[in-house]
Amino acid sequence: MKVGFIGLGAMGAGMARNVAKAGYLAAVYNRTTAIAQTLAAELGVAVYDQPEALAATVDVVLLCVSADADVLAVVKAIATTIKPGAVVVDMSTVSSATAKQAAAILAEKQAAFLDAPVSGGVEGAKNGTLAMMVGGDSNVLERVRPVLATMATRIVHIGATGSGQATKAVNQIMCAGINQAVTEALAFAQAQGLPMGKVIDVISGGAAGNWFLDHRGKTMTNGSFAPGFKLALHHKDLRICQSMAAQTATSMPLTDMTVTAYEQLMADGFGDEDISALYRLKKP
Ligand code: NAP
Repeated sequence: MKVGFIGLGAMGAGMARNVAKAGYLAAVYNRTTAIAQTLAAELGVAVYDQPEALAATVDVVLLCVSADADVLAVVKAIATTIKPGAVVVDMSTVSSATAKQAAAILAEKQAAFLDAPVSGGVEGAKNGTLAMMVGGDSNVLERVRPVLATMATRIVHIGATGSGQATKAVNQIMCAGINQAVTEALAFAQAQGLPMGKVIDVISGGAAGNWFLDHRGKTMTNGSFAPGFKLALHHKDLRICQSMAAQTATSMPLTDMTVTAYEQLMADGFGDEDISALYRLKKP
């Protein structure tokens, strides 16, 4: 099975390295070509300067780009050259509607599509320990599972096309709430004059312990907000969640509050920082 990887950003680069380590990766493409050339040289794989050229040569295309319009632009491009029977696995976080549109475009070319968004951050991408939620044909998933297993330790088939992205929306809503809770609690601790390292260590081992506290607690309280997960990307995800919730009249005050706070931070020039930059608005 020859695999190509499109989108070598904070997530994609680590994921592509793990696919390469297992011997599946044949080719890479990145919009900013220099990034693809450097990684291709490191991994000893082919590099293409157009996604169409990559798609013509592989059996599986893995995709991890930014937002809905980017996924659709890439899918439309690769649909012009993709081999019948090939599989496209999109690991970007986008809407269920985009996943369905991408699947329909590829179906016209007899190519399969799985929406397979991931959770676990850049650390999970680097270590191959992501959680992956998959929508689409379960038989297609079984065909490509060995490739996906190089990037994710937990791969769960949720249901039809779009259901992976709907599950990721659930994850993003939860992350918004956790971000609110952790940044607020740690700002309170700092205002109390507590020793932050000790506070984070002891709380991590108890009922309030969580991934975000473990991975971002110490950095945020030291005023470091390097991504990680870019705040502007989480904002994009939460806007998707809001529009999905509106269709079923579901109220999501925590999500709404987080969107408003992120918009303030983005207006202040912090959109490329990690989502833990929410701490900026909480600290006294
Ligand atoms: P990132 O570092 O900003 O990388 C985005 C990648 O997409 C870059 O390689 C970029 O190319 C490429 N790209 C964007 N628009 C494109 C287009 N129109 N055509 C071709 N390539 C395009 O973002 P990331 O953190 O890796 O996130 C990627 C996706 O994973 C997003 O959907 C995000 O929501 C999701 N995600 C992120 C995390 C996280 O913790 N970071 C966790 C789970 C899921 P250039 O190099 O040319 O800009």
